[in-house]
Amino acid sequence: MRIDGSGTLRASCVLCPNPGPMTLEGTNTWILREPGTRGVVVVDPGPHDERHLERVARTVQEQGAQVLMTLLTHRHPDHAEGAPYFSELTGAPVHAVDPAVRVGGRGLSDGEVLEADGLRVRVIATPGHTDDSVCLMLEADSTILTGDTVLGRGTTVIDGDDGLAPYMESLYRLRDLVREHDVRTLLPAHGPILTSPAETLDSYIDHRESRLAQVLDAVRAGAVGVEEIVDRVYPDVDERIRFAAASSVRAQLRYLSVRGELPEGVEG
Ligand SMILES: [Zn+2]
Repeated sequence: MRIDGSGTLRASCVLCPNPGPMTLEGTNTWILREPGTRGVVVVDPGPHDERHLERVARTVQEQGAQVLMTLLTHRHPDHAEGAPYFSELTGAPVHAVDPAVRVGGRGLSDGEVLEADGLRVRVIATPGHTDDSVCLMLEADSTILTGDTVLGRGTTVIDGDDGLAPYMESLYRLRDLVREHDVRTLLPAHGPILTSPAETLDSYIDHRESRLAQVLDAVRAGAVGVEEIVDRVYPDVDERIRFAAASSVRAQLRYLSVRGELPEGVEG
């Protein structure tokens, strides 16, 4: 599926050309607008790639529209680094959970609804990928923008050893919201849009639970230390993202330990 230009009635994607093992085809910058109005919300301007940021600003301009605010789904540079330059181009503030990446903007709190020229965007706190991760719901489009919490393909990385417990909670919460609001599409920050949200979230949850079971099996079979567990659980891991697998294993050990499932003498 072509990602650039894809979306829903109120959301359209401008794909940044920064492909990679962690970013898939690149960062999806989302332009949100209520039909028939001029005010626009931009989500995740992306890395400091001036051509991309200028293209996003130009796309808005060509629609006869104007950026009212920019939102960041989390602090990682492939989403946030371009925010200062984008704010310079548009004059619009950048709101984010993490004060360090705001530009003349404010924080985002769980459950609040941002209004911009008729557009309504609900903030959903979804810590796990990072502790400042949020998803954004466009109820009018039965859509949730998922940042890096759910990707268009594959699975996401958990940041920090304590991230898995909140991440699992975030996934369960998103699954509930999808059911309650009959959400039809997920718009991720990397990869193609997802059109079966409930199945996607079920498979994310199953994947994590089965990985946890595999890590537990490896520990019970005598694997000692993170590297040995990575070898057993991720035998075909791409060397370029082995660090990510190791970080996942550390988070899994910590979570198993929190759940009281690690055998005696093994540390989480
Ligand atoms: Zn990212």
